[in-house]
Amino acid sequence: MSDFDYTLVEETGKQLYVRALCDLPPDVRRALAHAYEKESQPGAKEIFKTMLKNVDVADGKKTLICQDTGLPIYMVKIGSGFNWDGAEVKERLTEGAVRATREYPFRGSSTHFLTRVNPQTSVGERLPVFYFDFVKDADCLEILMVPKGSGSENMSKMKMFIPADGINALKKFVLDTVIESGANPCPPGIIGVGMGGTSDLVTRLAKEAIARPVGQRNPDPDVAEMEIELEDAINATGIGPMGLGGDITTLAVHIETAHTHITLNPVAVNTQCWPARRARAKVYPDGSVEYGY
Ligand code: SF4
Repeated sequence: MSDFDYTLVEETGKQLYVRALCDLPPDVRRALAHAYEKESQPGAKEIFKTMLKNVDVADGKKTLICQDTGLPIYMVKIGSGFNWDGAEVKERLTEGAVRATREYPFRGSSTHFLTRVNPQTSVGERLPVFYFDFVKDADCLEILMVPKGSGSENMSKMKMFIPADGINALKKFVLDTVIESGANPCPPGIIGVGMGGTSDLVTRLAKEAIARPVGQRNPDPDVAEMEIELEDAINATGIGPMGLGGDITTLAVHIETAHTHITLNPVAVNTQCWPARRARAKVYPDGSVEYGY
């Protein structure tokens, strides 16, 4: 076992939570500014102006963009070029989330599902949510932190289709989910879609899809085409920013896919709200940390 100092991972886990809540990624800022320019309805334009002002105020005061600090999700890629202790990484990131909540301080949003007792730590039984992956040709630990607020998370949906339903059934499901969600997820955010896999994998894919930079297309041209088609269909609903009517209901549709069973065709939708918050860091074996989005 290496003598790597894992307090660095804890500090990074803490910083990432705070950064994600306070500093909106540049691609999201650009998408909101573009939406403001493009929006033709005066009321909706005014809402975009307020959103952009909200981001500026958060920058100026170094404060939260939204009061819902969400549940912490850490998506971790472990480089195989270094002997990382995965259990230690998990423990330290959990402590980082607790410290962010207490030291910033901000509201802890986690609670016991039955008693509703809130430990005011943002963590708890099986929280934070962790996605671990392993990558070759890298020695760093790449951590992507996504705080997930309830307004958007409550609108998540998954459905098991069969191949005979056809791909149009999946597209309709995505569109119907957005229409039913209305104003609840604080639109216009990113619509994350998972297609393929199993019931659990497809749900995870939808969550990974919301963490992709705005407008970065799926590398498969057929899937990328479907992203554009769904974006156009969703924006044509007229739901608009904050559900109050307008041209822009989503900043982007991102689809992540997986092979599935010959008699399955699952689809999942995970909506991200207009402050599509995320923060990324790469921790290197020499103790250096590179922050990004
Ligand atoms: S849905 Fe998003 S923007 Fe709306 S209150 Fe929740 S975290 Fe904030």
